[in-house]
Amino acid sequence: MSKLSKEFLEKNFTCKRCGTCCKWHGYVNVTIEEIEKIADFLKIDFAEYMKKFVILRHDRKGLSLDEKVNGSCIYYDEDNKICMINPVKPKQCRDFPIEWNFENFESECVGAAELLRGEK
Ligand code: SF4
Ligand code: SF4
Repeated sequence: MSKLSKEFLEKNFTCKRCGTCCKWHGYVNVTIEEIEKIADFLKIDFAEYMKKFVILRHDRKGLSLDEKVNGSCIYYDEDNKICMINPVKPKQCRDFPIEWNFENFESECVGAAELLRGEK
């Protein structure tokens, strides 16, 4: 359970672009519709995109974007600290941390940590 309520986050949260949520290991869940949008945005054929950049989750219940060897999302640009597919990034990315988060996420998310410290 987050120490910051959804209502509080809705009113006050600002992403500080620390990149932590793009760099941790874990699935970036995507739907077929989202994959179509990303492939279109990147001008890559859908079937080719599926083959090269999408994986089946271990529970076989959904699809995820692939990740780099270090666990970072393949679309996180470390040098410029940006998401390379920002206009079409999946819902899971757009929704964090207001629509979903996890216990103690404030220790990883700079924007939330600043709110907890009362810096906004
Ligand atoms: S798609 Fe973009 S916002 Fe989502 S994890 Fe990857 S780099 Fe981050
Ligand atoms: S961890 Fe929080 S502050 Fe950092 S990029 Fe993600 S949402 Fe933004």
